[in-house]
Amino acid sequence: MRQLWGRPLATVILFCCLALLSWPVLGGTGALLLLSVLLLALLLHHIRNLSELYRWLNEPGIENVPSGDGVWGDVFYQVLRLMKRQQRSEARLSFALQRFQRAGAALPEAVVLLDESDAIEWCNPKAAQYFSLDLQRDRGQQITYFVRHPQFVRYLAEPRPSEPLTLHVAVGHSDYTLSIQLVPYGDRQRLLLGRDVTRWEKLEITRRDFVANVSHELRTPLTVVRGFLETLEDMQQPDPEMTRRSLRLMAEQAMRMTHLVEDLLTLSRLESTHTVLREEDVNVPEMLKSLTQDANALSAGRHRVRMNIACNDWLKGSSDELRSAFGNLVSNAIRYTPEGGEIELRWEHADGQLVFAVRDTGIGIEPQHIDRLTERFYRVDKSRSRETGGTGLGLAIVKHVLNRHQARLEISSDPGRGSTFSAVFPDTRRLAPRATQARPADAAAQRLKA
Ligand code: ADP
Repeated sequence: MRQLWGRPLATVILFCCLALLSWPVLGGTGALLLLSVLLLALLLHHIRNLSELYRWLNEPGIENVPSGDGVWGDVFYQVLRLMKRQQRSEARLSFALQRFQRAGAALPEAVVLLDESDAIEWCNPKAAQYFSLDLQRDRGQQITYFVRHPQFVRYLAEPRPSEPLTLHVAVGHSDYTLSIQLVPYGDRQRLLLGRDVTRWEKLEITRRDFVANVSHELRTPLTVVRGFLETLEDMQQPDPEMTRRSLRLMAEQAMRMTHLVEDLLTLSRLESTHTVLREEDVNVPEMLKSLTQDANALSAGRHRVRMNIACNDWLKGSSDELRSAFGNLVSNAIRYTPEGGEIELRWEHADGQLVFAVRDTGIGIEPQHIDRLTERFYRVDKSRSRETGGTGLGLAIVKHVLNRHQARLEISSDPGRGSTFSAVFPDTRRLAPRATQARPADAAAQRLKA
């Protein structure tokens, strides 16, 4: 400030000195006139620069800061410096804002900034997707205008909501389950967070259904066994024939529970991410022969079982898992084909894919069931499945095994006429036939003996 005052003051003093010096020459009036002229010129100079400043203040910009001389030069230089500093801090601020917005956009969760009256201040793209928002258009609008669920409106009105709210929203053709949470921040503002928990909710439902199904499957045989045991216990003089029959039926139920537990263990092993697939050279033609023999044994002459080995290729995969999957398809074909029917086991290389297919002339399946057959415990005819010793897990196991081999299960069926279940493997799993030590027939015989 001292500098600013100093220079104009020095100019005025200089003018006064000049007037005093000119006094002897110009006389008193002349000297005062000269001083007035000089002061007037100084005043005009200040007025001109002041009006420049005023003009600039009306349209401030770094590119049009006026230039001046003397003290005004200093003033305008300071203004320019101020503008440049402001420009730098604006650039820093906008960079920080951009970074914040980029981070918000990358967040997998929905984020909406709400002001004290729950109007939208900002939202990230996930929030725009879940709540059908358009930030440009909807900034300043109430969030309840877009999310109208009564439970959400109530949740928003709560002064301090502690528990997250679970909300179901439909966006286009997709349904989402969101876990909503409100976090207070800043000056009475709130942050609305929405996390997609659709997958977790589905998993939770699957887990609950699974426990309920297993309990139900075990309860029936356990009730039967308990009933027989109570009857035998109550009998004063056990009837040998009745005792034998009861024991046989109890053994059947025990076997049913054993099968169920075995299938459950197989499924859990297949589902475990730690179980690595054993990559062996699997002689499928040989396996098919062995399965045909097993099928004949299971059918006990009630069906005609045919074998069709159209190619000699082997497969890269787990021999045990593939045998279990193929065995399930064969056993199903026998269980769901009435006496006198035909069952064909086929191994072929078609359209660049390897196909293991089991065709039967059994009861067939209505089209609406086909997509759900590989779900655990899904059965078309519950009583028939149970009567024939089914656990409802066979095709779920098949699906898992095939998935682990990058293969798929194709089902075609004609109700009342029969079905074909095909395991289709990619060509990458195909192996040229290897030299075998034992003759095929001997190997099959050995397997059956085992
Ligand atoms: P299950 O132990 O009940 O046979 P699966 O998972 O093996 O369980 O099969 C699921 C359901 O698919 C069966 O209950 C049955 O209704 C139907 N199914 C499977 N294979 C056949 C088939 N070859 N013919 C007709 N229905 C079948």
